[in-house]
Amino acid sequence: SPLSHIRNFSIVAHIDHGKSTLADRLIQSTNTVADRDMKEQMLDSMDIERERGITIKAQTVRINYTALNGEDYVLNLIDTPGHVDFAYEVSRSMRAVEGSLLVVDSTQGVEAQTLANVYHAIEADHEIVPVLNKIDLPASDCDRVAEQIEDVIGIDATEAIQVSAKTGQGITETLEAIVQKLPAPTGMRDAPLKAMLVDSWYDSYLGVIVLVRIMDGVLKKGERIRMLSNNSVHHVDRIGVFRPEMTVIDALGPGEIGFLTASIKQVRDTRVGDTITHEKKGTEDALPGFKPSQPVVFCGLFPVDSAEFEDLRDAIEKLALNDASFSYEMETSAALGFGFRCGFLGLLHLEVIRDRIEREYNIELITTAPSVIYHVYHKDGSMIELHNPADMPDLTLVSHLEEPRIKATILVPDEYLGDVLKLCQDRRGIQLDLTYAGSRAMVVYDLPLNEVVFDFYDRLKSVTKGYASFDYQMIGYREDKLVKMSILVNDEPVDALSTMVHRDRAEMRGRAMVEKLKDLIPRHMFKIPIQAAIGGKVIARETLSAMRKDVTAKCYGGDATRKRKLLDKQKAGKKKMRRFGKVDIPQEAFISALKMD
Ligand code: GDP
Ligand code: MG
Repeated sequence: SPLSHIRNFSIVAHIDHGKSTLADRLIQSTNTVADRDMKEQMLDSMDIERERGITIKAQTVRINYTALNGEDYVLNLIDTPGHVDFAYEVSRSMRAVEGSLLVVDSTQGVEAQTLANVYHAIEADHEIVPVLNKIDLPASDCDRVAEQIEDVIGIDATEAIQVSAKTGQGITETLEAIVQKLPAPTGMRDAPLKAMLVDSWYDSYLGVIVLVRIMDGVLKKGERIRMLSNNSVHHVDRIGVFRPEMTVIDALGPGEIGFLTASIKQVRDTRVGDTITHEKKGTEDALPGFKPSQPVVFCGLFPVDSAEFEDLRDAIEKLALNDASFSYEMETSAALGFGFRCGFLGLLHLEVIRDRIEREYNIELITTAPSVIYHVYHKDGSMIELHNPADMPDLTLVSHLEEPRIKATILVPDEYLGDVLKLCQDRRGIQLDLTYAGSRAMVVYDLPLNEVVFDFYDRLKSVTKGYASFDYQMIGYREDKLVKMSILVNDEPVDALSTMVHRDRAEMRGRAMVEKLKDLIPRHMFKIPIQAAIGGKVIARETLSAMRKDVTAKCYGGDATRKRKLLDKQKAGKKKMRRFGKVDIPQEAFISALKMD
């Protein structure tokens, strides 16, 4: 299609404001999908995404629309992930389109992720069309929300479209605005091929599928392409578009968005943001700002049943095929046996992978405490990145540690502001800003990432009864008093329970952990000291007293079968324990002790 009749756009919104529902309505009202094939949330394909109502991988759909002026347009929608963990994917996919629909729930108003996502759109120079959704609800207040968009975001909302993605009201106006207000893409058909790699994923039949936006030139089936980041060359065996099911076509021209397959084996061989060109007579001019996304949160994943280690390896390898931002390496723990140290983009990413292993592969997991990457400086000036507290070098060699910090933006109704400030303060936060948007406060804090990865988001939700919204970005590393806290059970250190903590909080954390462990570990025939220690110094201690009587003593030595049954039961109970030195520690202790209430 001619460039003038193409519109490429994304939808930016806070979670639950109606992005997926609006996409469904746009697809349905243009008969892109026959009514009988329509199912809710067309673009959210994975089960977990549907359940949690989030879209993780960017999805795309090509819509044919005959406008009220009688002309035919091709509209390409890229649905971007709506969560902070995937900020890099959001910013890349924004660069593949020229405009955005800014969807705001008119019963709620602007939220933290509305801001974060609209800033990506503004950075990508988008034309932005505000859409006020959920006008069918009695609590809808379009005037207030339009004013808020102008005050807080600073874009004109006088012509905001009033929509109900549920009833379909305002959908034609939305399609017309896409055609009338968003700019057509630009690009030169005769120039060397320059395409952006927007996303990629693994398909068990077709191998890796690559989503591309053509900037200049034409890409055809059968051609040889080259990735500028690593000069790898591939033969294109298929080209197509999503309607939203995959539809093969012959070529993609400037301004178009579609997919290619080229017998690429792993998602790892494709990098989001990379530039694709022809092998011969290609461009050398890479698209700006390419950087591979890096994991920031690490934890150990171990099978509850150690016999399932190979199954876990298999599951992790399969998941990694489709997710280049997830890293893993084998890890052995004296307490937990064989497992994997895995790296994630954030906590949600961690939870999604863990859930998928448990659900899709049916493997019960022990997850060790999430840890961030610390910079450990040696006295000789050299630095290592510490991904696992178990690898902390000898203290006599260490000069100081730095930890990653984030800039967190929280929007919260006035009445909960005090609780939010207290929470941020408790987590070693430094207040950067506090402003008002209507009856909502916007607070900006500089916080240590490690105080956020534990349970910050859950705490925030609970102190604000779910009314706060939260978003963050990494801002760099800073020195602080950080130490490794070890847990000793019966005088033996248990590696899987060690954590990095701030020195001033170590006693509190240590006490909480030993108290919990005392309740979780069953009594033995002997006394068991449970201690938290920094270096050689014990900072908290509990003692689990010895079991006084043999469980079989109650049987009066009489009934032999009853006695055997009891012993069998005891043995079965032991199976779910891991022996550590002379002490049996139940599996659940590893999970529970690390949870901070
Ligand atoms: P997303 O997280 O932005 O993709 O939001 P969804 O599209 O999943 O919508 C979140 C919830 O709001 C769902 O329960 C939708 O059914 C509901 N919803 C979306 N649009 C409307 C609307 O216009 N009116 C009403 N009443 N509910 C809506
Ligand atoms: Mg959604």
